[in-house]
Amino acid sequence: MGEPLNKNSRMECTKHGLQKPAFICSHLQHGVNLGFIEANDNPDPEFPFREAWCHECDTVLMAEGEWNDISEGYAQIMAICEGCLNEIQVRNEHQAHNK
Ligand SMILES: [Zn+2]
Ligand SMILES: [Zn+2]
Repeated sequence: MGEPLNKNSRMECTKHGLQKPAFICSHLQHGVNLGFIEANDNPDPEFPFREAWCHECDTVLMAEGEWNDISEGYAQIMAICEGCLNEIQVRNEHQAHNK
């Protein structure tokens, strides 16, 4: 991994250029209609990045009650640019009803 993130961290996206990093579960990256749960509680001024995960990860997270080895292991959180996050949100925020 590179340098630790701070609030001024930026990342270079091949599609969106220099952007703030954001964090998603690995399922959302290529997923469609997986649900989109975004962390919006206690924004940390030193870590002002968006984080989101899919419905399945939220189910695991609720079962575990917190982010721990199991829930984090399931989510496999990864860093992407904020522009990509916006596209992923549009693609996933309507959860499929064909379970
Ligand atoms: Zn997920
Ligand atoms: Zn991007």
